[in-house]
Amino acid sequence: MFQGKRKAITFSYDDGVTQDRRLIELFDKYDLKATFNLNSGLFNTGGPMLRDEVTIPHVRMRAEEVEKIYRGHEVAAHCVTHRFLVGTPEEEIIEQVENDRLALSDLVGYEVRGFAFPGGGINHDARAARIIRENTGVKYCRTTDSSGNFELPADLHEFKPTVYHHVEFDRMIELGKQFVELKPERDQLFYIWGHAYEFDIHNTWDKFEEFLKMISRRDDIYYGTNSDVLLDREDKIYRYYSFRADKIRAANENYPSIKTVSDLYDALDKIWCAETCAPRLRDGWSKENKTLGQCSITAFLAQDIFGGEVYGILRPDGNYHCYNAVGDSVFDLTSEQFGKEKLDYSKNFLQHREEHFAKEEKRKRYEMLKNALK
Ligand SMILES: [Zn+2]
Repeated sequence: MFQGKRKAITFSYDDGVTQDRRLIELFDKYDLKATFNLNSGLFNTGGPMLRDEVTIPHVRMRAEEVEKIYRGHEVAAHCVTHRFLVGTPEEEIIEQVENDRLALSDLVGYEVRGFAFPGGGINHDARAARIIRENTGVKYCRTTDSSGNFELPADLHEFKPTVYHHVEFDRMIELGKQFVELKPERDQLFYIWGHAYEFDIHNTWDKFEEFLKMISRRDDIYYGTNSDVLLDREDKIYRYYSFRADKIRAANENYPSIKTVSDLYDALDKIWCAETCAPRLRDGWSKENKTLGQCSITAFLAQDIFGGEVYGILRPDGNYHCYNAVGDSVFDLTSEQFGKEKLDYSKNFLQHREEHFAKEEKRKRYEMLKNALK
């Protein structure tokens, strides 16, 4: 299930507080992936908060920074205004969950699929889970009760994480040690959740980093966001850069099986190879870095299908990295080669196919890609 591995680790952090920045730096440092559950009606609110007799900042992110800060991780819903859902009227549950999901989808540019029940205590029940499952686009709902084990959730709309990092810090470390040693016969998931501001209370940042160091970069563990580890292929969240690209549809019938940008990505995923990679980068091409050296031929092929324009980002080596813009939507099917580097997709240079394909070598690679797609 986890790209051929038996074990997976994922993280889930609530409320979208400013401490998420520091937490994301840590996750990025150790190549870990996390999901962040945000309240779209509470951006830029908060102030000092007293917890465990310590005053710490509890301030939520601003809407404008959400897309950039959480890029490379997953954003999920957490109610528009952090509403406690048990006993809440049905229409209000739907509004709180679905409106949050849609508002966040609009901000991040992909369809948000996840949800975490807000509030402490018994913050979930079968009724709320059923209402969400039947009336919203949410595909999974995390509760705040620890399971203490690594079993995969039986009911995705009301499941328990493994452990809460804050009040169960030592238990988390113990479970981490067990998990890295585990040689399971079936798929196992280690799921850690909390709030980033909790690291400020007893200043557990360094201890948490030690924990991340211990569990990260292991060949037998898959590291993914919640949707990566919980959802099937049809609910897959794509990693290529896209801003509102899910709205785009093919402008012609030349490739009948390709209707959306993700359809094209899935098809190219099987086609991109060393031969279609630019010669100067070919030595570095691999299955793991499949989008390397494929940008211009991919962008012009995407333009054949979806219309719009091809733009180029000037790179330090003097070459342009090409991507597509259709209306107010932007997509870059070969963005994954840049890893965590966040490219700036504003104010770039219009690219012309005549100039690119004046190079015979490049035109041939474009033809190769195009023929393979047919
Ligand atoms: Zn919360």
